[in-house]
Order: sequence, then structure tokens, then C-alpha cells
Amino acid sequence: MREIKVRRNDGTGTEWPVNLIGAEGMPIRAHVAISALGATGASPYALRVREMAAANAPEAAASAMDQSYLRALFEHAPEAIVVLDRASRILAANPRFLTLFGYARTEVLGADIDALIVPESLRAEALGLNRTALTGMDAEHQTLRRRKDGSVLPVSILAAPIVHDGQNVAFYSIYRDLGPLQDIVARLEQTQARLDVVVSQAPIALFILDEHATFNFCAGKALETAGLAATQLLGHCAYDLFKVYPDILTAVGQALRGERAATVTAFRGLTYEIQYSPVLDVSGRSIGVFGLVRDVTETQLARQQLEFMAHHDLLTRLPNRSLFGDRLQEALLRAKRRGTRVALLFFDLDGFKQVNDTLGHATGDRLLQWVARQARSAVRDMDTVARLGGDEFAVLVEDIDTPVGAAAVAQRLLESLDQPYVDGERPIPTSASIGISLYPTDGLDPDGLLKAADLAMYRAKSCGRNRYEFFASDLGTTAATIFTKTAWMRQALEHDGFVLHYQPTVRLQDGGVTGVEALIRLRQPDGQLMPPLEFIALAEETGLIVPIGRWVAHEACRQWQAWRAAGLPDLRMAINLSAREFHDATCVRAIGEALQAHGMPGDQFMVEITESMMFPDPARARTLLEELRGLHIAVAIDDFGTGYSSLAHLRDVPADFIKIDQSFVAGIPADEKTCGIVRTIMAMARGLNLQVIAEGVETDAQQQYLRELECDEVQGFLLGHPLPAAEFAPWLDRRPERR
Ligand code: C2E
Ligand code: MG
Ligand code: MG
Repeated sequence: MREIKVRRNDGTGTEWPVNLIGAEGMPIRAHVAISALGATGASPYALRVREMAAANAPEAAASAMDQSYLRALFEHAPEAIVVLDRASRILAANPRFLTLFGYARTEVLGADIDALIVPESLRAEALGLNRTALTGMDAEHQTLRRRKDGSVLPVSILAAPIVHDGQNVAFYSIYRDLGPLQDIVARLEQTQARLDVVVSQAPIALFILDEHATFNFCAGKALETAGLAATQLLGHCAYDLFKVYPDILTAVGQALRGERAATVTAFRGLTYEIQYSPVLDVSGRSIGVFGLVRDVTETQLARQQLEFMAHHDLLTRLPNRSLFGDRLQEALLRAKRRGTRVALLFFDLDGFKQVNDTLGHATGDRLLQWVARQARSAVRDMDTVARLGGDEFAVLVEDIDTPVGAAAVAQRLLESLDQPYVDGERPIPTSASIGISLYPTDGLDPDGLLKAADLAMYRAKSCGRNRYEFFASDLGTTAATIFTKTAWMRQALEHDGFVLHYQPTVRLQDGGVTGVEALIRLRQPDGQLMPPLEFIALAEETGLIVPIGRWVAHEACRQWQAWRAAGLPDLRMAINLSAREFHDATCVRAIGEALQAHGMPGDQFMVEITESMMFPDPARARTLLEELRGLHIAVAIDDFGTGYSSLAHLRDVPADFIKIDQSFVAGIPADEKTCGIVRTIMAMARGLNLQVIAEGVETDAQQQYLRELECDEVQGFLLGHPLPAAEFAPWLDRRPERR
């Protein structure tokens, strides 16, 4: 407010421009004229106020216009505005001020603003603020103010002086309610904090690649678990870093072309799912890649667990019927392709129902788990053992050569279950009945084979349990024989039941006897001799071949020494090895021990192996043969021409002889094709520096033909049958050419 000094002698009519506040709180521009009504000092004065709007034309009109703008602004401003005199008394307040602080206009006009809206504790601060505002400096300030109802609100205050005629006549304050803003800030902070937690705690990572696939940004816990530091990625190109992950590179390329992509990648023992989204510019062009990486290892494990549960019996953890069906189907397809056999063994426990009924289901369950373990350990890793339901189990055996192989598996199963299961303290006697069906003889599809095996199992049950039966009736007798033969072989090992017969080999050039081949026979209880083709395969399946082979080596060496002692000329002694023996790690050592035990020189000894034995591991075969060589033992490849001949292997194998198989010799000289084969074998043997023995020579014509081909040695009924040791010396004696 401007102070006007009026002097007594001032003439009337003098006017001063002033700013006034109208009843509605509006500033009014006016002229004030004061005149003394009397001549003395005590006489009253007259005050005349003239509003300026009434003044002259365009300027006044413009000013009136300004005023209405200002008034509109003041009335409708979204912020609370007050105009204050120098003593902080409210001259004007806009509606927003009134609503914000909860007062009526009449309550505020003329009131001290600090008393009205400043909390007690902030009075001093408010005074300072007012003062600053009046000194002419703008001041913005964040603080608290109080509403009429006593509630406190955060505000931002902008205060500035109102200058008139170069003087700060008043000041105004603008209050902005910070409540909503603070809410937003709080919410933003919360969101940020949550994001931080997500990025730093959740098993994820985020990354951004630029248009050159270079890492611009990366963060997240998944980085840490992957053992990657941000510095290893930032500024580096994804194409360089992930060269060995072609699917990642493809996905990045796709995203850079504007398509979404995803990969599932195994990295350092964990599994990550990565989603790639293109980052697009305003024109929709891809200018980078946004990536979200999730560690899905656990999800994956859970999925595998579910998968496992769908295909396995949860009690025994064996494959269930559905998985077994799939495996059987696959095995049949393979067998069809390769022309091999598949055996299906179906078994259930004898008397399981009784165990369940009398000892309870918990015991029954434990028994089933034990059966599963026993069955699993009785078969090879590659065979499938499944629980089809209840106490029914099935075994899938692939790659069996003969029904004997299936019988051997069944026998091992029976043995593994033919011992009591001990539940706590209590032994529960167990046994099983097994039915066997074979592909392709007993069925061509899984259903057919299962049915056949099931039928066979019932026969096994009806034949007295704890046994196995083949589906095909004639094989039923074979099964019995297999059982007996195994028993006989065991006995023979213990009670000297094996016999060696000796068949000579003869030099073609001069008819001299070069050696003998020891051929084994099994003496049956009735005294008859069983030929090796009837029991060697079974001996291989049951593993009995190993002790049998040891016996053969010893007996052959013993016989050689006995003949020498009896004055016979030294003859090369050959024995046959079967695949299982040959791949037995101790085989060579056992032969060495036999030689040593009987004082037999290694260079008088020969080992016959077949071509097919050298597979599936030619390198190992080579090592074994070299070990034999180290003992000066000769090596012959038996039944040559019938196995998988591979010249490459033959070249690498350190052999001395090949024995042309009887089936070829049988064809000469009549069959031209066979003659061709024999000639080729001869030529090849020459090239490889191997000597040739022809097996199964029965006729003069064969011998003559072989002589023309310059075959080294012959063996066969024409020259001599396999003979017992006792008959061999007289046979040799009768020959004109003794050596
Ligand atoms: P191999 O080693 O090829 O033995 C030759 C087989 O042909 C012998 O049968 C022999 O009696 C027979 N043979 C010999 N000359 C003639 C002939 O002129 N005409 C015909 N038709 N046959 C002839 P054997 O003794 O029955 O032996 C059969 C196979 O059993 C042997 O074939 C050999 O692979 C295996 N074997 C024999 N003894 C043993 C042994 O101690 N251990 C092993 N692992 N296998 C053996
Ligand atoms: Mg042989
Ligand atoms: Mg042979």
C-alpha cells in the first residue's frame, strides 16, 4: 500500500494513482484525490477514488482486457495463489487456494497467512520465506503446510514480490500440492525397486543389442549364474561371442530382420530360454534386439520328471507298459532291418498274491522293488526290464543269435529270483515263471509277441513254476535241453567230462603232418560225446566258455608234452578261441600260463580265431594278437570267407595263417564261382604273406585242385578225422610220411 502524504495547502483536485483491492479480492487501478474540507488542521478531509477504467479510450480498453485475462487466470489457475501485503496479510486468494486449504474466502481475506496455514514448527521458516519473497528475489521452496482441518500436505511454494513504481508493495505465493506428485514418485521408486529385485534376483537377464549385434546393455542374475560378467558382453558382438551356438546366431539375425525368435540353449550345465524381439525405430525398421534370458533348468527338470512319470512305474522306477511297447516296437523295426532276432520274456512271481494277502501291501511293494532290482542286475544294461502291472514284468532282449541266448537270460533271471527276499528279518521265498517269445518266429508285432510270451508263461506255471518256457512247442523241449546241457557242462568242468580230439593238418607239397587242431567234445552221462556245435554257443551265453577254454589250453599243452615224452615228432598244436574268450582280458595270460605249466614252447602253439571276432573292436583284437605274438604263438584266421572279411583289417591284423572255410572247399573244383573265390583268397593271402590251410578236404579232386593253386596245407576227412589222443599216435605211425 502506498502512503500518501497530504499537505493542508495542497490544492484540491490533486490525484494519485493507486492500486486497490476490491471486495472480491480483485486489484483495482484507481486515482485518489484528497482535499481538506476546512482551513484548520482539525477539519476533515475528503477522499475521492476514481477507477481508472473509466479513463480515456483505447489504452483504457486494453487495460480492462488485460484485467479480465488476469482475472480468468487467477480464477482458474490449477495452482493455489494468494496475494499478500508486506505484513503477510492475505489481500486476495484464488478458488484453488480455498479448496486446497479448506477455507471460505471470508475466512482468509485480511488474515495472516502464516497463522492460517503454517504448522507451528515451521513458523520461523515461513517468516524467512516471506522475507525473501519481499526482498525481490524469486524463491521456490518445498515444505509442509496445514489445511483448515489440521491435515498436513506437502507443497512447493513459489513466492515473488509485486513491484509497483519501483517499490515492492506486496508479494504473491503460488502453492503447488505435491501430494499427488509424491505419490507418483513413491510409486515410481517402488516400481524401480521391484524391477531391481526382479533383475537382480529372478533367474533372468535382459540384454539389448544394437544393429550390429553388439551388446549395449545387459543385466540380470541369469548372467551371474551363467558365469558371465557384463564386461565380457558389453561392447562385444554377439556373432563373435556365440560362434559355437549357431541357433543363437540365427535367432539374432532373425530379430535384426524384424522377426521374433526364441532358442533353448544349454550353457555350462544349465538350460536357458532366450527370447529375441526386434527393437524398431519409428519407421518400423529393426535397429537392434531386445533379449530376455530365462534360466529354465528347473522347469526343464520338472518337465523331465513329468515325462519320466508318464513312462515309468513309480514304485519300481522301471519303464511302464507304454514305454515298453514303444521300445519293443523300435526293437522290432531294427531287427527287421538287420535280419536279427528279438526275444521277449514275460514273467510274474509265483505266489505273489499270497504275499500281498498275508503280509500286506507294503511288504508286497517292497518285494516288487526288490524283484525289479534283481531282474535289472540279471540282464545287460542295453536290455529293457519293465513292469507291466501288478507282479507282471517283461524283459526285452535284442541282438540274440539263437533261442539259446534268450534261454540264458531267462536262466539268469530265474537264478536271481530263486533266493528269498529278506523283508526286515523275515525271508520270503520267491520264484518266477517266465514265458519267452521270439521275433520273428512267434510274432511280428508287439501285441502278438506279448500274447505269445503270456501263453508261454502260463505253460511255465502249469509245468511246475520257477522255470521258463518258450512259446513255440518244439522249443519247449530245447529249453529243457538247455537246462540239462548247462548242468552237464558244469559237471564236466568239475569231473573231467570234456575230451579233446585231434585232427591233423598236412603239408600239400610232400604230405608231411604239420600239426593238429584240438577239437572239444562233451561226454554225456550215457558216455556219448556231444559235438562242440551243440554246446559252445550255450557255454558262451552262460560264461562257462571261459573256464572251458582254460581247460582246453591246459589239456592241449599237456597232451603235446605227453606226445613228446612218448617220442612223437613235435607237431604244431592249434586250439580254437570263441569271441567271449578272445575278448576276456585275461585270455592271453591264461594261455601263457598253460604253456609254462607244461613246458610247451610258444612257437609250437597256434590259436584259431574267426574273422568276426576281430570286430567290433579291431584295435583291441590287434593288441591281443600282438600279445600272442609276443609269446611266439601263431595265429590262424578260421572259417575264412564266411565272416565280414575286410581286407583293411586283414592287412592290420598280425596273423600267420588263414583257414579257407569248408563251404568253399566243398565247391571246388566243380563250381566255377567258388573256384574263383578260392583263387582270389589264395592270391590275396600271398599278397599279405599269409599261409593258407584248406579245411574240410574230403576228395582227391579237391586236394588236387588246391595243390595246383599251391595251397600250403590241408585238413579234412580225406587226410584224417579228429581222433582221440590215444588213437592219434598209431594213426601217425601208419603214415608213410611221418612229418
Ligand atoms: P572249426 O575250428 O572250423 O573246426 C573244424 C570242424 O570241421 C570240426 O568240427 C571238424 O570235425 C570238422 N571237420 C574237419 N574235417 C572235416 C571234413 O572233411 N568234412 C566236414 N564236413 N567236417 C570236417 P567240430 O569238431 O564239430 O568243431 C566245430 C567247431 O566247434 C569248430 O570249427 C570250432 O569252431 C568249434 N570248436 C571246437 N573245439 C573248440 C574248442 O575247444 N573251443 C572253442 N571255442 N571252439 C571249439
Ligand atoms: Mg578251428
Ligand atoms: Mg573252421
